[in-house]
Amino acid sequence: MGFVQKFIGDAKLDTAHSENGNDRHTDLADGALDTLGCIIRTMGSASFPLANEADPSAFAAQCDDFACHVENGAAVPSANIGQSADGGREWSQVRRFFIDRRQNEKEFVTNRLEDYRGFVDDLVSGLRQIGPRNQETEQSVRESLDTIEHAIVTGALPEIKAALDQSIETVSETFAQQKQDYEDQINDLNDRMSNLRQDLVTVQEEMKRDNLTEVFNRGAFDKAIAQCLNTQFILNQPVTLVLIDIDHFKTINDSWGHAAGDQVLRSIGECLERSFIRKRDLVARYGGDEFAVILNDTTGRHSKPLIDRFFQHVESIVVPYAPPDAHVSCSAGYTEITPSDTVESLLVRADKALYRAKAAGRQCARYSPPEEE
Ligand code: GH3
Ligand code: MG
Repeated sequence: MGFVQKFIGDAKLDTAHSENGNDRHTDLADGALDTLGCIIRTMGSASFPLANEADPSAFAAQCDDFACHVENGAAVPSANIGQSADGGREWSQVRRFFIDRRQNEKEFVTNRLEDYRGFVDDLVSGLRQIGPRNQETEQSVRESLDTIEHAIVTGALPEIKAALDQSIETVSETFAQQKQDYEDQINDLNDRMSNLRQDLVTVQEEMKRDNLTEVFNRGAFDKAIAQCLNTQFILNQPVTLVLIDIDHFKTINDSWGHAAGDQVLRSIGECLERSFIRKRDLVARYGGDEFAVILNDTTGRHSKPLIDRFFQHVESIVVPYAPPDAHVSCSAGYTEITPSDTVESLLVRADKALYRAKAAGRQCARYSPPEEE
């Protein structure tokens, strides 16, 4: 017996003992339909996007359609269900929709868990190999040095030269082998990381947005930058952090009002989203009139044209309630992540660069090299 039928069936039994049997029957049926609609909507709003889903919000919209169908027989175009003339519902399709989603989610989670476990296993076994491998290298170098020392003490010049040649060859081979082993290990980890990176993008979709500007908020940035430091440590791929601050923003607020200031903040958010468009980039409001952008797989040198493109977009911002010649500009400080960075050291460096951009007259970007502390 189906979920709704079960309720309606119970209601029928109840009507035999009730003076207002029909009302009770209707109340129960309505309650059951509302509840089922609510369950389906929650499945949409609290779901997580699957790996192959181009637009995660599409599933929530589809759940909404199915919920309406359950509640009042409305059409579900994405499932080829038309508006019902007699108020009937396509229960088998509703069931199929729910079951398919659950199964896809289960498969996705199971596969990802396996990926993560495999990744952690590889990482741990790689780390465990480093110790003995370093010992072997050390042993080989020490033996070569002993051979040279022995030749120097006992041998003539040709013997010393032969011992040196032999040692150089051995040491070179040992280091070449060690380098190859490390490279193989990093390549394996890279392969696994490409899947996990997709997961990070998915997690980004779930992170919180700033109410005013709709870019990610400070909490989302804090999470993302911590993750970046970890993945950068493992993959050693370039990541650039850009801090952006609006120039003389107080004056905009003071001259044209806070509503104008709020609108400028929104426009800056839009310019940022238009300028840093890759899915693996992250744009966040750091606080007040300051924004942060994380550019994955991007060196400082390659970040500069992107920042310039953002500055160009900012030039076209119109300040509401202000004369047409009122204009907005931003300053930026940027730096690259290094494996030894902490979140704090990174922010300090980017902040120093931003300070220099302000001191240089604003409306420009300055770079702090990683070696600068
Ligand atoms: P500078 O060029 O040195 O950055 O000068 P500035 O005037 O921009 O100075 P600062 O960055 O310190 O000013 C930040 C101002 O942003 C102060 C604060 O009143 C304003 N502000 C912070 N949050 C909001 C907000 O949500 N809406 C509005 N309208 N203003 C805000
Ligand atoms: Mg400012």
